[in-house]
Amino acid sequence: MLELVAAHGAEQVALTADPETGLRAIVAIHSTVLGPGLGGTRFRPYTTEEEALTDVLRLARGMTYKHAACGNTLGGGKAVIIGDPATIRTDALIRAYARFVDRLGGRYLTAEDVGTTQVDMDLIRTITPHVTGVSEQLGGSGDPSPATAWGVLNALHAVATRVWGNESLAGRHVAISGVGKVGHALAVYLAKAGARLTVADARPDLAKAVAEEVDADVVDASTVHLLACDVYSPCALGAVLNERTIPELRCAAVCGCANNQLATPSDGERLAARDVLYAPDYVVNAGGVINIAQELASGGYDHDRAWTQIAGIRETVSKIFALADEHAVTPAEAADRLAEARLAAASQPS
Ligand code: NAD
Repeated sequence: MLELVAAHGAEQVALTADPETGLRAIVAIHSTVLGPGLGGTRFRPYTTEEEALTDVLRLARGMTYKHAACGNTLGGGKAVIIGDPATIRTDALIRAYARFVDRLGGRYLTAEDVGTTQVDMDLIRTITPHVTGVSEQLGGSGDPSPATAWGVLNALHAVATRVWGNESLAGRHVAISGVGKVGHALAVYLAKAGARLTVADARPDLAKAVAEEVDADVVDASTVHLLACDVYSPCALGAVLNERTIPELRCAAVCGCANNQLATPSDGERLAARDVLYAPDYVVNAGGVINIAQELASGGYDHDRAWTQIAGIRETVSKIFALADEHAVTPAEAADRLAEARLAAASQPS
């Protein structure tokens, strides 16, 4: 187990097991170089404890890079609760989890993730201040999806500038795969910007409803990546850019909110070889964490300040494209280097 922690370069891992409520949870703090580790709590039925530990270590490291690249003064952290929330979640279990987070003294700040909800965050807030993403009535920033979509729109402007020399998205054909919380909000933004839209979703009813709302075409979720378009925007699952799909793409760029879009690091090279510009996912989808970080700002959450900061994703993405050119690396590699440079600068003794 300690080898796994070392291999992921984590600063600290904390474990808890509470027989009374059935809580079994792990917090991984990857880096506090830029600030306390902030990342969501994933609640899912991992098959083994090793699988849970591997996942939380990988996700915590990802948060370090995301915060660093987008300019947050926060570090990388993540938590997992082992078990099926549909069967084991009780208020008592969530309260026990909140006490565990509280004992970490603010080195880890939690938030919502797959399997946890805003109701859980609100309950955690009754026990500890070290939680974000609580509801607006409690002074929180609410659902992060609109903020994430606003960030993706800004990233798309950077993509347009890079590919067509003009930030306008009017008349550009964007194919959105997944019109859930973020994809739907993005479709609305893009329609206002005058883009031509095609949407797809594993739930055809959802795709149809969004298409009617924003005057888009609908295609099947299994073939959306084959569409001839300007930008393919993955807004559903990860690993959609892989050995099989990349040769089939017929777009100039890929820019969407889904996490972990590249199946393997070499898929970044594969996209470059096909001359498809890739906007790195963890930078494109940072609007949610930038928004949540505003809850920690002095004076508390302020929507306009958050939206202004999220718009900075446009500049960050442009900078990443410029760095990629300068060092002859892929945008994915350039994003990692940008994050690492910020971490290295913050680690220097003053
Ligand atoms: P969501 O569950 O609301 O929406 C996802 C949509 O994708 C659903 O409508 C679902 O039916 C659809 N879908 C599932 N499988 C599909 C497939 N194979 N092809 C096409 N559509 C499919 O989720 P969301 O909050 O909109 O998040 C979307 C993605 O963005 C996820 O990868 C998430 O991790 C990432 N993300 C979300 C946020 C946020 O603020 N919500 C922030 C950062 C990253």
